[in-house]
Amino acid sequence: MVEIDLDHLYKRYEDGEDYAVKDFDLHIKEREFIVFVGPSGCGKSTTLRMIAGLEDITEGELVIGGKVMNDVAPKDRDIAMVFQNYALYPHMTVADNMAFGLKLRHYSKEDIKKRVDNAAEILGLEEFLQRKPADLSGGQRQRVALGRAIVRDAPIFLMDEPLSNLDAKLRVSMRAQIAKLHRRLNTTTIYVTHDQTEAMTLADRVVVMSVGQIQQIGTPAEVYQNP
Ligand code: ADP
Ligand code: ADP
Repeated sequence: MVEIDLDHLYKRYEDGEDYAVKDFDLHIKEREFIVFVGPSGCGKSTTLRMIAGLEDITEGELVIGGKVMNDVAPKDRDIAMVFQNYALYPHMTVADNMAFGLKLRHYSKEDIKKRVDNAAEILGLEEFLQRKPADLSGGQRQRVALGRAIVRDAPIFLMDEPLSNLDAKLRVSMRAQIAKLHRRLNTTTIYVTHDQTEAMTLADRVVVMSVGQIQQIGTPAEVYQNP
């Protein structure tokens, strides 16, 4: 059960004059693909980071699978996350980059190999496993970042502008890849973007944010229909 309840979440940064996120209230169903959209600074990343445990929640409750998660450390949340700046380790091979989090968590050698091979197969990275990030294209690097996130099979997948560093053509093919990944992995996914096309093509439901608050929630058809 990986329903996610964002129960009236508020976030105020220590040096912030106002709330970065205000009264964010949303129930996310299992396996749903949710997209947060809105202009830069409206609180999308902050909300995602609160779900991942990378920011404290000022007020409200984060409930995952019926369990209150506010005080659970990031490493103890069963969540995969991919950022815009994919920050691969430059001195490690693709395989070692993907295996890194598994090694930290003391997965067995055989299990690590199986998981890395499986992720490489899903993402079409088999022939790049022994290369270093510097020898890959931008799209290939972003696929490695996705691979690193999916090897643990976490039921929740958070993505923060994962495609915004890629050129337009690559964004289109990676978008299809992400849709496919979601269907294949059956994760509950939350995806942050300011790109309307990504929201329209990927989302089950779109959450439109503006200055820290939810402005509208609906299917892409509901949100983007012509008035
Ligand atoms: P984006 O538009 O993609 O959210 P930002 O430039 O707003 O990127 O933020 C980049 C990083 O800087 C994030 O880690 C964010 O938490 C941090 N950041 C953003 N605004 C501030 C701020 N006013 N003070 C301190 N850190 C900030
Ligand atoms: P978005 O992801 O929609 O671009 P953010 O969640 O990054 O928005 O930022 C929401 C608000 O919080 C912005 O006003 C931003 O400047 C502020 N902010 C983000 N990170 C920090 C931080 N680490 N410290 C202080 N303010 C921050």
